Amino acid sequence: MLIPHGTLIAQMSSEQIESIKTPIFGNKWILRWESDRIMKEKLMREAKLPVPKPVLDSKDINTLVIVKRQGAAGGKGYFLAANQEDYNKKREQLITQGILSKDESLYIQEYAAGVLAYLQFFYSPLKEELEFFGADQRHESDIEGMARIPSEQQLKSNKVPSFNVIGNSPIILRESLLDEVYTMGENFVEAAKRIVSPGMNGPFCIEGVYDENAKFTSFEFSARIVAGTNIYMDGSPYYSLLFNEPMSMGKRIAREIKTAKETNQLDKITT
Ligand code: ATP
Repeated sequence: MLIPHGTLIAQMSSEQIESIKTPIFGNKWILRWESDRIMKEKLMREAKLPVPKPVLDSKDINTLVIVKRQGAAGGKGYFLAANQEDYNKKREQLITQGILSKDESLYIQEYAAGVLAYLQFFYSPLKEELEFFGADQRHESDIEGMARIPSEQQLKSNKVPSFNVIGNSPIILRESLLDEVYTMGENFVEAAKRIVSPGMNGPFCIEGVYDENAKFTSFEFSARIVAGTNIYMDGSPYYSLLFNEPMSMGKRIAREIKTAKETNQLDKITT
C-alpha cells in the first residue's frame, strides 16, 4: 500500500479509506486490521508472529508493560508502567498535560526489551514472491535521550518519557537471522490471504525487537510503506542483490503496476 508512514491512516477513518472508488494499489481492506489493536493482534497471531502478551486490565500489571494509544500514534503518549499504581500515576499526568484524553481507551502490552528492527517487505501478487527490502531502526524521543543521562539524573526526572518517533536509520541484520525474517514475512502473507482477501500485496513491515538470544518479538505490523523506506531512492543493500539497478520502494511499486497493466492484470494488484 503506497501510503507514507501512517499519515493518511491517521487522518481518514477505515470507512473512508474503504469507500474510495479509485482502485488502490495493495489491499485497502487490511488497513482496518492495522488500525484496530484487537484485529491487529488477531492477524499477527494467525501469522504465528511471536507477539507480546496483552494485559487486559491495569490491575493485572505485574511486569514491565508499555501502554499504547489506539491507531498509529507514532509512539506519542506511550508510557511504561511496572504496576497499577505506576500506571494510574502516569496516565493522570499525561491527561493533565493534555497528551491523553480522560476517556481514551489504552492498550497495555508486556514490554519486550532488545534491539528495534523494522523489517520491510514487498509481496508481488504477480510473481507470487516475497522480497525482503531491508530493515530500519527507529529513533524515539525521549526514551532514547533518557539512556544518555546518568541514572542519578533519570531518577530525579518527573517527566513521563514518550516513544515519539523522530527518525529511522538502516540496520543490516546478522546473516543468520535472514532465514527467520523470510519465514515471518511468508507466514504473514499467507495469513493475510486467509483472513483479509486478497492478502498482503505490495509493501509491508513487521516491527519488533531482537532480545539477547536474537529471538524476535513483534509488537506491530504496518500494511504499507513504513519507516525510512520511501526515501531510499537507490534502494537498499538487500535490493541490490535482487535487482541490477537502483530500486526504491516507489519504483518497485511503479514496476508492479506497469507489469500488471501490460499483462492485463491490474485487478490482481488493486482493491
Ligand atoms: P506506527 O507509527 O509505527 O504505526 P504506533 O503508534 O502504532 O506506531 P508502535 O509501533 O506500536 O506504535 O510503538 C511505538 C514504539 O513503542 C515502538 O517503536 C517501540 O519503540 C515501542 N514499543 C511498542 N510496543 C512495544 C513492546 N511491546 N515492547 C517494547 N517496545 C515497544
